[in-house]
Amino acid sequence: MKELPGGSKDHQLTVALRIRPMNEAELEEGATVVAKRVDDQMVVLMDPCEDSENHLRANRSREKTYMFDVAFDQKAQQEEVYEATTKNLIEGVISGYNATVFAYGPTGAGKTYTMLGVDSEPGIYVRTLNDLFKAIEASRDDMDCCVFMSYLEIYNEVIRDLLNPSSGYLDLREDAKGEIRIAGITEFSTSNAKEIMALLTKGNKQRTQEPTAANKTSSRSHAILQVTVKQKNRIKDVSEEVRMGKLFMVDLAGTERASQTQNRGKRMKEGAHINRSLLALANCINALSEKAGKGSQFVNYRDSKLTRLLKDALGGNSRTVMIAHISPASTNFEESRNTLLYADKAK
Ligand code: ADP
Ligand code: MG
Repeated sequence: MKELPGGSKDHQLTVALRIRPMNEAELEEGATVVAKRVDDQMVVLMDPCEDSENHLRANRSREKTYMFDVAFDQKAQQEEVYEATTKNLIEGVISGYNATVFAYGPTGAGKTYTMLGVDSEPGIYVRTLNDLFKAIEASRDDMDCCVFMSYLEIYNEVIRDLLNPSSGYLDLREDAKGEIRIAGITEFSTSNAKEIMALLTKGNKQRTQEPTAANKTSSRSHAILQVTVKQKNRIKDVSEEVRMGKLFMVDLAGTERASQTQNRGKRMKEGAHINRSLLALANCINALSEKAGKGSQFVNYRDSKLTRLLKDALGGNSRTVMIAHISPASTNFEESRNTLLYADKAK
C-alpha cells in the first residue's frame, strides 16, 4: 500500500485476471473447464492430467489456487472490468501523473477483447477516453486541457505508427527534460467516441499478425495506445506546459511458447524478441513491487523498446495495472498455468 496523489490509499501495482468464456473450437474438441473463479480475488486451476495416482504419490494436489487483486470470469461485462482496473487511473492522469495498463496472456485468451473490444461491447480504450473527456469537462478550473492519442506497435523491436502505417520505422528519443518521445508519431486529437473506435479498429487491422501452428492469426506485436493530457494555465500568461499526464494502454504480444507454435526461422526470431520484452517488463514490474516494500532496487528499462517507451509510466509516482488473460479450457492448461505463474510473480 502506498499513499497516492489525491490522498487515497491504493495499490501502486494492481494485478487482475480475466477468464474468457469457452469457445466453439474448445467445445468441439471436447475440452473441459479447468480454470474457475472462486471469488472476487481467487482463481483455481485444475490439472486435467488423468493420472491422479501420480499426483497422490507426489503429494501434490491436482488443484492450485492463485490470488489476484481482482478476478473476473466469463460472466464479467466489459464495464465491470474497466471499472475495477482502469477507471480510477483517470483522476491521476488529469492531475499530471502517469499510468500503464497491460493486457497479458497467450493468443486467443481475450487481450484485444478487453482492450479494444467490439463495436457492441467496446473495451478499455474507448471507455477510458470517454470518461477522460467527461472528467475534463466537469473540472472547470483555470486550465486549458488538450488530449492527444497515438496508437503504435512494437514488432521485433521496431516501432510503427498504426494510425499512419506508411510512415515507416520510428525512433525513441529522450528530450532535454529526460522525457521519452517517439519521433514523428501521429498525435490525434478528438473527443468523438465513434471516431475513436473507428480509428482504433482500423489501426488494429494494421497490426503485424502472422499465422502460427497454435493459432491462425497470432499477434506478434505489442499494440500501445498512448493518451497524453496536456494542460496550460488559462489566466496567467505563461506559455509553458504546466501539467502533463500520460496513460499507456498496452495489448501485449501473445505469450505462446516456441515449442507449441513449432517456431522456426522468422517466427523463432519474433518469439525471442517477444520473450525478451516480456521478460524485461516482468523484471521492471517485479523490481517495482519489491521497491515498494524494500529499499532501492535497480530497474533496467533499457532492456527493450517496450520498457524504454514506458519508462516514465512505470514506477515513481505512476500506477501500473496488469490484466492477465486465460482460457478456461483443459486444452490450454499449460498456457494458463504459465500465465497464472507470470501474473503471480509480478505481485
Ligand atoms: P487475444 O487478443 O488475446 O489474442 P482476442 O481478444 O482476440 O484474444 O479473443 C479471441 C476471441 O475470443 C475473439 O473472437 C474474442 O471476441 C473472443 N473473446 C475473448 N474474450 C471474450 C469475452 N470475455 N467474452 C466474449 N468473447 C470473448
Ligand atoms: Mg489480440
